[in-house]
Amino acid sequence: MKTILFLLSMTIAGTAIAKRPNILFIFTDDHGYQAISAYGSNRNKTPNIDRIASEGMRFENCFVTNSICGPSRAVILTGKHSHINGFMTNGNSFDGTQQTFPKLLQKTGYQTAIFGKWHLKSDPTGFDVWQVLLGQGPYYNPPMKSPAGTKKIEGYTTDIITDLTLSWLKNDRAKDKPFMLMCQHKAPHRNWQPGPSHLETYNDVEMPYPETFWDDYKGRTAAASSQAMTVARHLSANDLKLNQPRGLTSSQLESWNAAYEPKNKKFREAKLEGKERIKWQYQRYVKDYLRCVASVDDNIGRLLKYLDESGLAKDTIVIYSSDQGWYLGEHGWYDKRWMYEESFKTPLVARWPGVIKPESVNRDFVSNLDFAQTFLDIAGVKQIPEPMQGHSLVPVFKGNTPKDWRNSMYYHYYEFPGAHSVRRHYGVRTEKHKLIHFYNMEEWELFDLEKDPNELKNVYGNPTYSETQSKMKKELTRLRQLYKVPEDTRPVKRAPKKPRDKKKKAAEKKAA
Ligand code: CA
Repeated sequence: MKTILFLLSMTIAGTAIAKRPNILFIFTDDHGYQAISAYGSNRNKTPNIDRIASEGMRFENCFVTNSICGPSRAVILTGKHSHINGFMTNGNSFDGTQQTFPKLLQKTGYQTAIFGKWHLKSDPTGFDVWQVLLGQGPYYNPPMKSPAGTKKIEGYTTDIITDLTLSWLKNDRAKDKPFMLMCQHKAPHRNWQPGPSHLETYNDVEMPYPETFWDDYKGRTAAASSQAMTVARHLSANDLKLNQPRGLTSSQLESWNAAYEPKNKKFREAKLEGKERIKWQYQRYVKDYLRCVASVDDNIGRLLKYLDESGLAKDTIVIYSSDQGWYLGEHGWYDKRWMYEESFKTPLVARWPGVIKPESVNRDFVSNLDFAQTFLDIAGVKQIPEPMQGHSLVPVFKGNTPKDWRNSMYYHYYEFPGAHSVRRHYGVRTEKHKLIHFYNMEEWELFDLEKDPNELKNVYGNPTYSETQSKMKKELTRLRQLYKVPEDTRPVKRAPKKPRDKKKKAAEKKAA
């Protein structure tokens, strides 16, 4: 009898665990929704990301809290805003001793693994298995770090990250446990080096220009004064592939030269100037970016295919997202950082067989702040020791968005001084309006998103909007209190360089 009871309880326990779904989180760096066909891209096709969307849900309003690489990752791991998790700018190092969702998943019996871009300086914590790029990582032949040490792997990074993910899925995971698997690409981050199979993709097309490509930033002081991220003036020779890339093997370089040298020769001979030159730069930049996206999409196809073949698809939630959105020439820009729509929003599509209705489109305000609690809810974790600041998306997945769901989003960007010189700002977005405060400049911007979806006309101070303006300010204050945001008192000027050590100077003189 005892044996029967024991076997019965084992079976029940086994069934209960087997019922908890696996999670495959596929994540990219800097992938704007404008470069995904499921989001209506007029420039490229992404059949595999589209497949996740059509077999699941596409989120039209997924916002990030701080539009930049490292900080977005820290928000996802902790479910807390940057000022609470401590990773406010890319210059920070993540405190891996704090509570994160992978640690809580481990405690509840999930196996956790991450392959690819980590970008938080300190080593990953909370993962049973990890193998990550060093910092940003190169597009070709990346050194990858794991607890066993750092080893260089030859090939194209997007393919390699997928190979590692697949190899773990096939051979190394504990098959009696559900898994949380994070496959995190470097692509399509700057400087957009296409993979061997897409060096010639888009050669014969002219990419359309966004409506705001020739934006003059009128009425928007921060954009007009200090940013350095224009397609016209801020792309380097490396970005534009006018220099040969470093670190390629001789055969990789041979394919590279075959693709770029004839085009570069033509460009040099044409001696383009003014708008023609800017247009050439846009074409070169956007095509290379989309070539990188094409490899990401191909590799997502490999993962989906394996899930189908192995039978894992029915028990595995697949989520695709990026650390933030991106400017694909909108406002004349590349890069991210601003609270304007293209970088504030990020793509999010999710497939969960039997739970998410295929072909769903959701317009609720969701955020990368919600991901941690979503994963924990999926795994059945009811108690989170330290409260997080988002909300589980599981009811949203089920089509039952709670009545009191948020209808405004708080945003805060901190990295100034910093790369691309975008001023620090915070703000609030509601369905129809957006208020932004560039607090070190005492500049405000208010946009009527219904009349001006491209955010070209700042109506702050316009009497027609005085009621809206004060409502938005109140909402901003409410959110800053809700999330416990302290005043940002860090200096806005770079600290002066320390005078060089006298002894060191003398030693150098002697050596010379
Ligand atoms: Ca990024």
